[in-house]
Amino acid sequence: MPAARVLIDGPSELVFDYAIPAGLPVQPGCRVRVPLRNKSSTGTVLAVSHDDPTDLGFALRPLHSLTDPEPLITPKLLDLARWIADYYVCSIESVVRVLLPEAVRTEENSAKTRKAVVLPAPPDPVILEQLAKRAPKQHAILAILTHSPDHQLPLADLGSVAGPSVKALASRGLVEIIDQEVRRDPDADGIDEILPTTDLPLSEEQQAALDAILATAADATRRPFLLHGVTGSGKTEVYLQAARHMLDAGKTVLVLVPEISLTPQTVRRFRARFAHIQDQVAVLHSNLSQGERFDEWHRIRKGKARIVIGARSAVFAPLPDLGLIIVDEEHENSYKQDQVPRYHGRDVAVLRAHLEGATIVLGSATPSLESWQNSLDAKYHLVRLTHRADGQSLPLIRVIDMRLEAKKQKSRDSFLSDRLRNAIEDRLAKNEQTILFLNRRGFARSLQCPSCGHVCQCPHCALALTYHRTDDRLICHICGHQAVVPRKCPECKDPAIVLQGFGTQKVEDVFHKVFPTARIARIDADALRKKNALRDLLNAFRARKIDLLIGTQMIAKGLHFPNVTLVGILNADIGLHVPDFRAGERVFQLLTQVAGRAGRGSLEGEVIVQTFTPHSPSIQFARHHDFDGFAEQELEMRRHFHYPPFSRCALLTVRSTHERRAEFTLQTLHRRLKETLPKGIDLGEPLPSPLVKAHGQFRFQLILRGPKARVLARHVQQVLQKTPLPEDVTAVFDMDALSFT
Ligand code: ADP
Ligand code: ZN
Repeated sequence: MPAARVLIDGPSELVFDYAIPAGLPVQPGCRVRVPLRNKSSTGTVLAVSHDDPTDLGFALRPLHSLTDPEPLITPKLLDLARWIADYYVCSIESVVRVLLPEAVRTEENSAKTRKAVVLPAPPDPVILEQLAKRAPKQHAILAILTHSPDHQLPLADLGSVAGPSVKALASRGLVEIIDQEVRRDPDADGIDEILPTTDLPLSEEQQAALDAILATAADATRRPFLLHGVTGSGKTEVYLQAARHMLDAGKTVLVLVPEISLTPQTVRRFRARFAHIQDQVAVLHSNLSQGERFDEWHRIRKGKARIVIGARSAVFAPLPDLGLIIVDEEHENSYKQDQVPRYHGRDVAVLRAHLEGATIVLGSATPSLESWQNSLDAKYHLVRLTHRADGQSLPLIRVIDMRLEAKKQKSRDSFLSDRLRNAIEDRLAKNEQTILFLNRRGFARSLQCPSCGHVCQCPHCALALTYHRTDDRLICHICGHQAVVPRKCPECKDPAIVLQGFGTQKVEDVFHKVFPTARIARIDADALRKKNALRDLLNAFRARKIDLLIGTQMIAKGLHFPNVTLVGILNADIGLHVPDFRAGERVFQLLTQVAGRAGRGSLEGEVIVQTFTPHSPSIQFARHHDFDGFAEQELEMRRHFHYPPFSRCALLTVRSTHERRAEFTLQTLHRRLKETLPKGIDLGEPLPSPLVKAHGQFRFQLILRGPKARVLARHVQQVLQKTPLPEDVTAVFDMDALSFT
């Protein structure tokens, strides 16, 4: 008798083998009901083996039944799950749990039904006439049904008094009462009126990009596309038209965005373009109810929803006949999940496209250097949009040297330059809008001199040193290099070298004082906690009820407001000196994206960047809208120091409420990793994490680099398997880590 390996639903990742009763078509990916101790439970079949289980020396209990006639996970998605488990060093169970969202696994969510009344055949006129005289209510019901679509109506719609009449009609066989499946429609209320749009005539560049993308359907190699288009170049229009072609060809389309709530305009444009097939569009927000998620998931699986828009986890949407995957803003870090399984949505999308034979387009104005290097290596097919679609030029970017400003204003913590203040006053007078951007990354602190802009760096790693308050030291968290905190700036000898940082709240308070008549609003994580807060704020901004919008990283994404003519970046430096080799890349991306919010209408845009390090390459290349120049010099640095994309980089973190135990465990792991270290792997030193303590747990970490992800992952996995961890100590492995805190 064949056996099935079943992952039991529930929080604890139990896996058991069960015998498959004869005749039951159990396949991998099926959902089954199984006995568990003296109860029964549901689960997912991970694998089916045809070996004789009697070899085990004991009989397996048979599973009870299939809960769905067909597998819910397709063989290709199961392959994808296995790859993820292998690559990111996590259990297949943890991957299956994201593949089949809880809403789909939980039985209580099963399809919702309601009673409906159906007219099976047109009523006999003789009977109708009788009823009209003797039972006018029954007559009325038949008349309503005759004129209803499909000759049916929900029972509830007939009103509470109709019950007895319907029963009477049913008993004579004149109507039937059925259980009708109803979709819990997440858009039934709440989304604003959407005006349908049609394809725009494409520019030459757009047309060339679209042609290239559509041509792959016939191309056997199917390299992923990297669509590099400057902000406002019309990438979205290319996505929309590519998607339409795929739908017309009978295929389905998956669109990934960094975060649904922060990209309302992209979602809106897809809805508007596909308004004519609105019920085929599924938008997977994080705030769907369990019932809605269940229904959307099944609509997608059955091919009823043929275009799916969602964030990271939507990469697992069970679309049949997948023809096209679009990953918008492919450089965004939010594609990386920061919990197990720690997959990168973009990378998983690339693999999924490969497995499914689908076309994939990665789009960005600031591609990640990983994707960029892949295009240089001809692994990806590069297509470019070099002009703004509306013919406008890219905004003028001015860089303000805050070192001079600090001298001029005789104040070390001023964050508003004269230039920016004048520019804002000018916009207020002209009734144009301003976005002010406050760069806030993490808590990691670096030391920077306000006079000369000098930042304390590791001599070995080209990284900002992190200030550790506990032992008042500067530490490089790649190699462990330590330095004492200088009493004065090593460069210019100014004793005022300080820790950097201020918050949105403080900025807002100051701006209220400086511009007392301006209408000012702030967008940050706090402001977004309320439901619809972001939507309401953005709507107010669009309606020009706000003059000045202050925000963090959040507002850097695809927002499009024609009346915004000024964007100010208050502190371009902060992100530059975090201890992360991607710091320069992030700042370049951020400046470019934020600047891209200016001048998107008929009015020209201006961008003012305040910085203590005006000559930093990230700032200078962004100022000249020079992605290629930036990439070239940044890649040189990465190559020199063996950072990605020229190596794979992973982070091993050990956490515990006991500081010594966490530290000791990491040291033990480090020793074992070192003993059997495969050639080519560079093992970092065990060190306190920049975020030394979080959620009551002490954190220690080490960084590994190597040419091959698999070799690295396997080595760590083997050591972890052989090293029992003390109770209350957890080890977390993050392959292709994007955050090193
Ligand atoms: P991106 O996604 O590259 O930032 P968008 O797709 O948002 O760019 O395009 C910027 C603006 O240009 C939008 O208002 C869009 O409607 C408009 N646009 C795009 N393509 C065209 C076109 N071919 N003709 C006219 N306007 C266009
Ligand atoms: Zn170092």
